[in-house]
Amino acid sequence: MAFEGLTERLQNAISKLKRKGKISESDVKEVMREIRLALLEADVNFKVVKDFVKKVRVRAVGVEVLESLTPAQQIVKIVNEELVKVMGEKESPLNKAPKIPTIIMMVGLQGAGKTTTAGKLALKLKNEQKARPILIAADVYRPAAIDQLQILGQNIDVPVFSLGTDVNPVEIVRQGLAEAKEKKNDYIIIDTAGRLQIDEKLMDELHQIKELAQPNEILLTVDAMTGQNAVEVAEGFNSQLDVTGVVLTKLDGDTRGGAALSIRAITNKPIKFVGQGEKMTDLDVFYPERMASRILG
Ligand code: GDP
Repeated sequence: MAFEGLTERLQNAISKLKRKGKISESDVKEVMREIRLALLEADVNFKVVKDFVKKVRVRAVGVEVLESLTPAQQIVKIVNEELVKVMGEKESPLNKAPKIPTIIMMVGLQGAGKTTTAGKLALKLKNEQKARPILIAADVYRPAAIDQLQILGQNIDVPVFSLGTDVNPVEIVRQGLAEAKEKKNDYIIIDTAGRLQIDEKLMDELHQIKELAQPNEILLTVDAMTGQNAVEVAEGFNSQLDVTGVVLTKLDGDTRGGAALSIRAITNKPIKFVGQGEKMTDLDVFYPERMASRILG
């Protein structure tokens, strides 16, 4: 991940202040104008940008900054803190059921990386918590999604429950849950169907699965590379399903950062994990502080 354009523009904007001694309100105004443009160019949602700029400006025209001998550093600190806040402040751990199994439902549009992320998450739980996860293959519409999950399962040595593509997904989930309970799996990860766009049929099916499985976690995968489109998709899924967290995939290919900086503020749901590559080990907890430091460079 490298949001080079954003980093460079933010650094440039602030470095102009470094050449000055004391700064004035109009210097703050000028730097905020540039920060605003940098964020918009990074494809950050305009409402998020507006709110962000306002918060930084209010703090930056405070006496501590204007009277400071190192105003540029003060502004960097403020921008950093507000970036952390806009991304959710702290990392957000996976919800866990009070007693096993913890049920995780993966949702998202086709191609966002839902099936891959289901596998990555299973491997992470296995490696880090010595968990015994099972994957349920309920994506019956995308050609080869079930085969893909089965191959992933073999590679990471995690069982995959499947009834092929001819059985209704809700029924697959029903039987998969029964099997998982019998086998005492501690995590059940359900790979649901994605479609090319949010439609009623998709949502109806997801509602039925949610109702049946009563998941502890509904993780929405969105593709970071799609920028504001990812934010819209997140809003759509969240308004319908009340998701519990977001996985931002393909962050390794995202050069702008708009989705990472907008999703939390727009949906009020935490980004829990980020996908940073195609390998099964390329799933990381999302740390707002680390991301803010990387953005500021
Ligand atoms: P689904 O339709 O949502 O289940 O999507 P898939 O899991 O099949 O993923 C679609 C494509 O995105 C595959 O080629 C994945 O390897 C790729 N992919 C998923 N997550 C990531 C990621 O974090 N980084 C990169 N570079 N590729 C990813």
